[in-house]
Amino acid sequence: MTSVSSGKSFHDDAAAALQNPSLQAALDKAGAGFLATRSRAFASIENAQALCEAAERVRTRAVHDMADLLLLFEQRARAQGVSVHWAETAEQARSIVLALCAGKRRIVKGKSMASEEIELNEALLQAGAEVVETDLGEYIVQLAEEIPSHIIAPAVHKTRAQIDALFRHHHGGRKTPEGRVRSSQTLVEEARRIIRKKFLRAEVGITGTNMLIAERGAALLLTNEGNGDLSAIMAERHIVLAGIERIVASEKDAAAVLRVLARSATGQSLGTYVSLYGGTGRGTDGTEKPRKDMHVVLLDNGRSAMHGGPWHDMLRCIRCGACLNHCPVYTSVGGHAYGWVYSGPMGKVLSPLLAEAGTDARLKRRVAALPHASSFCGRCVEVCPVGIPLTSLMRKLRNRHFERPQGIKGWKTRLGCLGVRLLFAHPRLYRSLLALALRLLKLAARGKGHVGRVAWLPGIGGWTKTRDLPVNRSARAAITLLDDV
Ligand code: SF4
Repeated sequence: MTSVSSGKSFHDDAAAALQNPSLQAALDKAGAGFLATRSRAFASIENAQALCEAAERVRTRAVHDMADLLLLFEQRARAQGVSVHWAETAEQARSIVLALCAGKRRIVKGKSMASEEIELNEALLQAGAEVVETDLGEYIVQLAEEIPSHIIAPAVHKTRAQIDALFRHHHGGRKTPEGRVRSSQTLVEEARRIIRKKFLRAEVGITGTNMLIAERGAALLLTNEGNGDLSAIMAERHIVLAGIERIVASEKDAAAVLRVLARSATGQSLGTYVSLYGGTGRGTDGTEKPRKDMHVVLLDNGRSAMHGGPWHDMLRCIRCGACLNHCPVYTSVGGHAYGWVYSGPMGKVLSPLLAEAGTDARLKRRVAALPHASSFCGRCVEVCPVGIPLTSLMRKLRNRHFERPQGIKGWKTRLGCLGVRLLFAHPRLYRSLLALALRLLKLAARGKGHVGRVAWLPGIGGWTKTRDLPVNRSARAAITLLDDV
């Protein structure tokens, strides 16, 4: 996979992201738009809460019955002439797709995070195929040799000026005067002209899916650009790559999820194109006819290990991206700081768990620290339309990380943890030191222009560099903690 992270830690990449003015400009612009459209979409309907609860029930049931539903999906899909392949690992999934693409050179792809997860493009390119991403955001990050920085808006980190420069570099064309940036419409039209030619020549189309519908043996695809449909229809062979948790029981259940998916993702009541792909389709005479050569690759890659265990709830995720858009960490540093394809709160839970199924030791080390990159403000939990308790999952992952021998790194952290352990084991000592600390804090909070707030404190200088410490609120938090001791 092409990675844009430095290969260092989340901490280092996040620090660099905060100093990157063009990234900050792009994030500011996109962030405000996402929040406003989502809140308008939910405010405009009376029963938003009920719709989310219905979607949560559907996903809870589907994940609970995942094994049976997948078998039913396989049976119904095969009965229509669709080939179903099971891939336990990323390697197996890549091999299956490579075998299905053997002898084919021209491949178009719709947006698929599962394909990013298994680094499919690199494998296909190495095998000598030409692979073209056809979702505009994915196309942009492919040209930039980057990974997506957002699960629904892969190029959200790019400014229009950067995209213009990228297109000029790859597409050629006349230079515009210095400092002039072409309009979004012009850039979209240019990309469309190029991608359209790729559709016409494509031998294989690879897409992801939003849901696999067990009773129908069909894959549901939701897009705004129609590129997923063209990828599925124009080539002789259509390959759907799907994480096994994408299963739902019926079309009715899929409809319950659709009611919240687009609202939560982009603020639309429904995506522009909603298509069902199965082995047969209705011809112009109204009869069912076999469609073309279709394959579904069911990807496990760590998902079944999550089933029934402490991380089970994460399998409900419908990849709407709302938790990213509302996360103060994601909206400050963007997706690339997370070092892998899944970012934001859902990535902090999913990435360490999925990486464990693979063999990349460096990736495992890197993403193991992600659950720590949270302020635990809980906004992600509030906006998740299927009620995933992201903060409590992150907390469990933190605990697990610290329980491992390599979990607590650095003498400062070790010393801090020992100190906290000592204090919590001796409540009297905790109370005395707390009383002393509060007195000192109140003294420190008398500074000119900072009444009631501490402008600098040794040990948390990184925190106070950008904001004051409110003494009353901090004291209340410390006393609450005291009550728990
Ligand atoms: S965790 Fe929830 S909010 Fe985040 S992408 Fe998944 S469904 Fe959406």
